[in-house]
Amino acid sequence: MLDIKSLTLEELREEMEKLGEKSFRAGQIFQWMHEKLAESFEEMTNLPLSLRQKLSDHFQYTGAKLVNMQESAIDGTRKYLFEFGDGSLVESVWMKYKHGNSVCISSQVGCRMGCTFCASTLDGLERSLLPSEMLEQVYAITRHTGERVSNVVVMGTGEPLDNFDNLLRFLSLLTDEKGLHISQRNVTVSTCGLVPKMRELAERQLQITLALSLHASNDEKRRKLMPIANSYSISELMEACAYYFERTGRRITFEYSLVGGVNDSKEDAQELSGLIRELNCHVNLIPVNPIKERSYVQSEKNAIQAFKNKLEKNGINVTIRREMGRDIDGACGQLRRRQKALQQEVAK
Ligand code: SAH
Repeated sequence: MLDIKSLTLEELREEMEKLGEKSFRAGQIFQWMHEKLAESFEEMTNLPLSLRQKLSDHFQYTGAKLVNMQESAIDGTRKYLFEFGDGSLVESVWMKYKHGNSVCISSQVGCRMGCTFCASTLDGLERSLLPSEMLEQVYAITRHTGERVSNVVVMGTGEPLDNFDNLLRFLSLLTDEKGLHISQRNVTVSTCGLVPKMRELAERQLQITLALSLHASNDEKRRKLMPIANSYSISELMEACAYYFERTGRRITFEYSLVGGVNDSKEDAQELSGLIRELNCHVNLIPVNPIKERSYVQSEKNAIQAFKNKLEKNGINVTIRREMGRDIDGACGQLRRRQKALQQEVAK
């Protein structure tokens, strides 16, 4: 069955035509799904009952079941665990900032990129998410909190550029003026660095922010942390970033997870400066969140500060990521892993 929540308004009009319905119905249905955030066809009370019936015969209506939610006592950050129709589990995070509410969504169930410090990739990729399933994470959280979401970051489980077409469709629906109408400038997509897709994204000339997970200042070190570094060199990445800026005018964000004794020395900071000095960019330093399956440790407080100072001295814009929801934490992907382990235990 066709996934109705992943259709553009134009496509929905065509579908209505095929069903012998008036095309204005498409606008009504679109509004119910993407603005009023209806959870079912039954809620669409300005549609005739017969049409609602027809819709449920013809289309799949994506929903996300809330399985678990943890709220931080420190800063109100919430971690949501959702389940889709096929039993797939994904994590999403809600963060409250002074400038608005931000949601971090997953783009895939699991991940096949294999970064060695990341919990989301330990069991590989189960499947990619549909556009409607990415949207539904934002919608379900909006319903649950009763508050508007102003920022969306695609930084949860999965590699968004490994799910490229669905990602683009998601972005288009999320920012549609007839939907939640989230500004493109308030959307960030984070990638481990799939160079051809970064370039393809640049061609679309969207006003979203591209974040590149760099995590190392030379290819040798990067290959130890991220298998994708075997496919694309840092110099290819830098060229793709420059191209993204050239096409979109959007400043690149570099994410750099600091791992104690691995990539956090002053020499690393110096080498990193050399790489990115020419680019219009911002560096986000993330103290690594240790996962129990690996032996990585966080950098010392003063090493983090020294790293930051070095970049600043070199004229680079840098922030240390505030650790939100430290008390509910466990690294990204761990809530999902715990739930899966629990379910497997019950199934035994
Ligand atoms: N696949 C995308 C988006 C998901 S990961 C990407 O690689 O960018 C979001 C960010 O969190 C990435 O920068 C990733 O490298 C980082 N990350 C993953 N696990 C981490 C951990 N345990 N500690 C710190 N950062 C982590």
